[in-house]
Amino acid sequence: MTVLVTGGAGYIGSHALLRLLREGERVVTIDNLLRGHRRPIELLQERFPGKLTFVEGDIADEGLVSGVMAAHGVTTVMHFAALTYVGESVEKPLWYWTGNAAASLALLRVCDRSGVERFIFSSTAATYGQPGAEHVPIVETTPQHPINPYGASKLAFEQMLWDWCRQRASSGRPVGAAALRYFNVAGCDRGGLLGEDHDPETHLIPVILQAALGLRERIDIFGEDYPTPDGTCIRDYLHVEDLVDAHVRVMRALQPGETRRYNLAIGRGYSVREVIEACRAVTGREFAVRAGARRAGDPPVLYADPSLIANELGWRAEVTDLHAIVESAWRWFLEHPRGYGDSPARA
Ligand code: UDP
Repeated sequence: MTVLVTGGAGYIGSHALLRLLREGERVVTIDNLLRGHRRPIELLQERFPGKLTFVEGDIADEGLVSGVMAAHGVTTVMHFAALTYVGESVEKPLWYWTGNAAASLALLRVCDRSGVERFIFSSTAATYGQPGAEHVPIVETTPQHPINPYGASKLAFEQMLWDWCRQRASSGRPVGAAALRYFNVAGCDRGGLLGEDHDPETHLIPVILQAALGLRERIDIFGEDYPTPDGTCIRDYLHVEDLVDAHVRVMRALQPGETRRYNLAIGRGYSVREVIEACRAVTGREFAVRAGARRAGDPPVLYADPSLIANELGWRAEVTDLHAIVESAWRWFLEHPRGYGDSPARA
């Protein structure tokens, strides 16, 4: 089989490529390089000669994607390509609906016409919206009421997937599909090849590490008056390699005719203050911290219950210690203070 990975030049997609290539899979990836980087693809192609095909283009381009599917005999799709900033989705909702829902629909139309048997969708826990305290930790049956266009556009595609599976099963040509939902992904490949490079960077751990490197003046804590033990927000930080491990396990387990929905998480949260302290301990660097105002739309406590995938597939996060997560990122950040070095704004 050949696996098509969409968005393989991005943070999570590139880590997925590494894992699939290590397992000896034949892989082709499509990425429009809007937010991704060419460098991780080159590094992977150097490490695994002849095993990874890169196609620069858009998943909305049905002609291009059909050609890739036919040329490579794609049977499995792992779909990471997406726009992923909540704030940006509020400012540019139509762009998010186009990038996350319409483009994914175009991809699905091509899958329907080709020999795809399995579709693994990298969804998001933002599809749950802001569940009340009675729904935390979040389980897969927690009602999905997204509160921004990012979460709504990802949920819309989940629904398209389920409809597709239902119709294909009833027409005697069953396909399998899964949606994996998660919140905060962190850390980098512990082998040191791949890292995390967003532009702009807004995520907590990379922002702190950039402050530790002296690339930012300070780190701002978005609110210290939440109803949590130290007043800062609590989140569930999952190591990127554990996240990718779950995707691969689901890919291996998924049978035609099945639909699966799983939360991916450690199952416990850390506060912003705890993350800052872990970064201080790991980096051994001093950096300024300023308590600032709350950021709009941040719920106080978010963590998910991963027991469904643990019970059904035996998946559990291996890296559950926050220090270990930060260490893997710090190693890459120290060696690549400017990231992959191809972002115009930071070159
Ligand atoms: N956060 C913060 N300062 C920052 C970036 C993030 O205090 O510069 C907080 C944010 O309010 C949230 C947590 O850190 O409570 C994780 O934020 P991130 O943007 O990494 O992920 P999110 O939870 O929004 O998906």
